[in-house]
Amino acid sequence: MRESAQPLVLFGGTFDPIHRAHIRAALAVSRALGEAPVHLLPNAVPPHRPQPQANGEQRLAMVRHACAGHRSLRADSWELSRPGPSYTLATLKHFRQRIGPRRPLVFLIGADSFAGLDQWHRWREFAALCHLAVVPRPGAPAPSLAVQRAFPRAPAHRLMARPAGHSLLLRRPLMEVSATEVRRTLARENQCPAITAPVLAYIRRHGLYTIAAINPDNEAS
Ligand code: ATP
Repeated sequence: MRESAQPLVLFGGTFDPIHRAHIRAALAVSRALGEAPVHLLPNAVPPHRPQPQANGEQRLAMVRHACAGHRSLRADSWELSRPGPSYTLATLKHFRQRIGPRRPLVFLIGADSFAGLDQWHRWREFAALCHLAVVPRPGAPAPSLAVQRAFPRAPAHRLMARPAGHSLLLRRPLMEVSATEVRRTLARENQCPAITAPVLAYIRRHGLYTIAAINPDNEAS
């Protein structure tokens, strides 16, 4: 299939750092949608929220390292290049405009984020712009009825035939990994099986996620 006819998948996140569950989720959705390209977009974080430990440039670099060697995965700097915090609605509008009204646009989301979708800025407008591909996450609750109704569940072929408005629920991969836990493990052990070797090499080169980087007060002790 020509790329311009395939669904375009967007995967937004903090990626602080990107880990194997992110990559496995992106590959699974790509495969389910006929090897569709997946753009991974590290976000700019609003000032009133806890800040990522790695800056935007470093998170983007780690995403690039993690995507290398996977033909369907691309690091995308669009959200980081915008001034101010990243709103998913603005990202969806931008990509919808870029690809035109007919090509399917799919937003990839973990089941935990899907469950809280009705707290997102103007989330109801998403359904006119994109589908959702939901990847399971251990312990994630079900979303509200309003979210389920806004995005009726559909098989992959329906998402590939329409531009927006449905949700695809994947059953795999189910991985008990979080960036929070990855950061803790890195600070304790200077390694972590949930990240790939090139990402680990980057983290070590830049001194990220060490105890000193997390809490500079500990540096002297
Ligand atoms: P943190 O632990 O800091 O909250 P995180 O691992 O959840 O981070 P994010 O970069 O904020 O990572 O997540 C980006 C997206 O990836 C979200 O949609 C989230 O639901 C999804 N995601 C992250 N980890 C998993 C996982 N283990 N399984 C399924 N989805 C995941």
